[in-house]
Amino acid sequence: MRQQAILSIDQGTSSSRALLFNREGKVLAVAQQELDCTYPQQGWVEQDAELIWLSVLKVCRQVLAQAVQQGIEVLGVGISNQRETTVLWHKAKDKVLSPAIVWQDRRTADYCQKLKEQGHEEWVQQKTGLLLDPYFSASKIRWLLTHNNDVQQALAENELAFGTIDSFLLWRLTSGQVHATDSTNASRTLLLNIQSLSWDQELLQLFGVPEHILPQVRQSADRYGVCDTRLFGLALPVLALVGDQQAAALGQGCISAGSLKSTYGTGCFALVNTGCSPLFSRHRLLTTVAFTVQGQTFYALEGAIFVAGAAVKWLRDQLGIIAEASETAVLAQSLPDNGGVYLVPAFTGLGAPHWQPEARAALVGMTLGTGKAHLARAALEAVVYQTADLLSAMLADGAKAEQLQIDGGMVANNWLCQHLADVLNVPVLKPSQNEASAYGAALLAAVALGWFESLAEMHFSSDAQEFLPQMSADKRQQLLSGWQNALASVLQ
Ligand code: ADP
Repeated sequence: MRQQAILSIDQGTSSSRALLFNREGKVLAVAQQELDCTYPQQGWVEQDAELIWLSVLKVCRQVLAQAVQQGIEVLGVGISNQRETTVLWHKAKDKVLSPAIVWQDRRTADYCQKLKEQGHEEWVQQKTGLLLDPYFSASKIRWLLTHNNDVQQALAENELAFGTIDSFLLWRLTSGQVHATDSTNASRTLLLNIQSLSWDQELLQLFGVPEHILPQVRQSADRYGVCDTRLFGLALPVLALVGDQQAAALGQGCISAGSLKSTYGTGCFALVNTGCSPLFSRHRLLTTVAFTVQGQTFYALEGAIFVAGAAVKWLRDQLGIIAEASETAVLAQSLPDNGGVYLVPAFTGLGAPHWQPEARAALVGMTLGTGKAHLARAALEAVVYQTADLLSAMLADGAKAEQLQIDGGMVANNWLCQHLADVLNVPVLKPSQNEASAYGAALLAAVALGWFESLAEMHFSSDAQEFLPQMSADKRQQLLSGWQNALASVLQ
């Protein structure tokens, strides 16, 4: 019998990837295309949605060509995507109307601050689980509706459509047949009531967003539609849409209450599954939909940090002190300690648990002896200390964290993994297969295909590298208080 596979699209901020997974969860083929962001003004972060689409098309075609060569039968598609990034397009012309506003973009900080000052945050949090921050899609949509003539024109023609990247890709894959999203992506817009899983009239009114431009909200594993056969020469069904962080949680096996994962890519996102009812944070974490499968919705408590690997990219691309991200491990290891140097990477403001969009990055504690190794180490350590702040908030909210499962591009860095275990004082587990997001989307597609009858049957790879805490309590305390001092210098 021919080997069967699922095509998983992992559309991230720094790259688009396509992978083929077989029934055992093994990766049979991979293709990747790097993507750039542009920074046209201070605090703005944009991507070209057309380039995102072309990159997805290219990587899918590459892995499908490999499937043909290897005689693999591809049965369907699952999509894991960067979340919140906002795309508006003209339906009839199938034309993107502006650059995509990327999740990291802070242009709507003043507007969100005004809404907070008007006292809207509490009721918005009760409905959405989120806070009034430019990170989420609603204020980005509003910005485009008020600043972009083409968007206004399309709205007047009744041809305007909004989508996060999942929704935009689905639209393109189905050649405009399906305008839908899933509950995880919808839960990041600030427009969804996360208990009823429907668009909320009061929120739509607050942000001035017309409901008819929004996609239909569906389950994460669902038969969304069929790819236009002209794209791949195949009538491939789209079977799953899921935000990348929720996908990674699934891929890491976080399907029951209490399981925790943290993903280290451009940003860092820690999610703890809280079961079938939302747990609303009292410590400025986010409550979000973890996934909706077979009519059942799970929720998660999430801590989102905007800059993790992005700081390493900054060392490489802006400062030019490293040629490759992996050099940071060698540099960090070359020092006996951090020399009191801390980087607070608030390049795009601070996310959880501070939520200060106007905060800016700082490098503190430098002496004339400070060199590039200190900067590299400080960039890696910052990721660890920010995770520590998230875990403290999760514990204070009543969630438990006995171990941390990690994934994402940065966990190739073993120095970082060990420092995480040391500072968090919990075992850190790195799965041998570092494809959690793509795997999570493939698992959902597998449920929609009927490969698994229920969530409990989903297959997870179990071998993982374990990093155990080795640091003394005194040292840990000293590092964490050094971080808190550095952080205080940027908090407003
Ligand atoms: P995303 O899904 O957000 O696009 P990835 O999970 O692909 O991101 O991770 C890419 C990020 O990881 C980049 O920002 C890069 O700087 C960082 N990175 C990759 N390898 C390493 C490494 N060995 N050490 C530190 N950072 C790394």
